[in-house]
Amino acid sequence: MEIVRSQRKPADAAVAPALSLYRSAPALEVRLEDFELYAIDRLRVLQGISDGLSRGKKPQEMEKLVSELWRAHMRHQDPSEEMNKDIISHFVLRLVYCRTEDLRKWFLSMETSLFRYRFRLESPESQRLLMSEFQLPYKAINHAEFETVKDKLNQVARSTGPSSNAEALFFKVPFEEVPELVAGRRVFMLKGFAYVAMNQVVSLVATQFRSNLSKALVLTNRKWTSTIRDKEKNRLTPIVEALSTGYLGPDYSQPKEFSEISLKDIDRLASSSFPLCMRHLFDKLRENHHLKHGGRMQLGLFLKAVGLKLEDALAFWKSEFSQKVGAERFDKEYSYSIRHNYGKEGKRTDYTPYACHKIISSTPSVGDHHGCPYRHFSEENLRAALGKMGVGGRSLDDILDKVRSRHYQVACTLTFEAVHAASCDSGINHPNQYFEASQKILQTTRQATS
Ligand code: SF4
Repeated sequence: MEIVRSQRKPADAAVAPALSLYRSAPALEVRLEDFELYAIDRLRVLQGISDGLSRGKKPQEMEKLVSELWRAHMRHQDPSEEMNKDIISHFVLRLVYCRTEDLRKWFLSMETSLFRYRFRLESPESQRLLMSEFQLPYKAINHAEFETVKDKLNQVARSTGPSSNAEALFFKVPFEEVPELVAGRRVFMLKGFAYVAMNQVVSLVATQFRSNLSKALVLTNRKWTSTIRDKEKNRLTPIVEALSTGYLGPDYSQPKEFSEISLKDIDRLASSSFPLCMRHLFDKLRENHHLKHGGRMQLGLFLKAVGLKLEDALAFWKSEFSQKVGAERFDKEYSYSIRHNYGKEGKRTDYTPYACHKIISSTPSVGDHHGCPYRHFSEENLRAALGKMGVGGRSLDDILDKVRSRHYQVACTLTFEAVHAASCDSGINHPNQYFEASQKILQTTRQATS
C-alpha cells in the first residue's frame, strides 16, 4: 500500500467479495488524510465492539451493534470506494496495532469479532465463497455418511434450538479446531471429529481468520521496526503512533454547552456531575488544601473545560492553597501554572483536558490523587467512594466486576447510569463528556418538573 500526498488515482476495478480476507496490502494509492481518517473510522467501530463485548451484550445484540457501527462509520459517499476504505483502514490499523503484545492482542480480538459478525450477515452463497477462499481443508460429508449419523445430528439440532437444521450441509472437522462449538455442546462429535453445520461454519472461518491475522501482525511488526518506522519518521510514523493512544471523541479543549460555571455552584456541580476521578481530586483539595502537580493539571484542565473562567480558577485555587501555604507563596509558586493552563503564560498554548485513556494510563505515586479511581483505587476504597455516590446493590457488583476485568471506562459508564438512572450508550471516554451528559440529564429533569 503506497501512501501519497497527491489526488487518489482510480482504484483497481477488480471485483472483490463484500467481506475481505485482507490477505495482502492492496496496490492502492492513498492520500495521507484518508490514511488517517479511514483508520479513525475503523477504530470507532472496533472500540464500539470492545465496549459492547465488555458490557456483556448477547450475540444477537452484538450482531445489531456491529451493523449499526459499520453503517455509521465505514460508509463512503462513493459506494465503489467502500471496499477500499475497508481494506485500507484494516491495513493502517495493522501498522498501528502490530507494535506491542498488548496492542496486537486487542486488535486481533476486535478484528476477529468484527469479521465474525460481518460473516454472519453475508448470504449463504457469499459465506461458501469465503470458505473456499480460505481453502479450508474440510469436505462436506456425503449422503451415505449423513445417513449413518442423521439421528445424532437431529438430536443435537433439537437441543441447540430452532435455528439449527439437521438437513443442512455438514463438515467433518477435527474437534480441537472448533473449541467454542465443542464447549457449548453445539456439535455432534464422533472419533475426534465434530460435525459442523453450514450455519456454524463461522467458527471455522473465524479461527482461520484469527490465525492468519495473528501471523501477519508479527510479520508487520518486524517490517515496522526494521524499516518502516525510520523510513517514515517524518510522515506516517507520528500518525501511526498517535492512533493507538489518541482520543477519538469530541474536542473539549474549549468550554461548550454549559459554558460558564460560577464559583458559588462548584460544590453542587462536583457532587452532581463530576465523574469519580474529578470528584476525588475535588474532595482531596477541599480536605488538604493542596494537590500535587498531576492532580492540579488533571482537575485544573477539567474545570477550565467545564467553563470556570481564569479569574474564578485563580480565586478557587488560591482560597484552598492559601490555607496551607499562604497567599503570598500561592501567588509566587502556583498562580503561574494556572495561567499557563489557560494559555496566558509560556508558549500561550491553550491546554486540552485529559481524556480517560490518558488518566487511566497515568501512574500516580504515593501522595498523588490524580488517576482513575476504577484503575488506581483498591477495591475497598472504590466501594467506599461509590457508596458515597449512592451506588450500591446489584449496580455496585456489576461495576466491581468490570473493574476486576479491567474495563475501567465501562465501570465508569455503569456508575453514570446508576447515578443518573439513564443509559449512556456511547460509553464514557472523557471526564468532560461525563459532565456534559450529566448536566443535560439534570437540566431536562429540572425542566420537566418546573
Ligand atoms: Fe474519570 Fe474516565 Fe476514570 Fe471515569 S473512566 S473516573 S471519567 S478517568
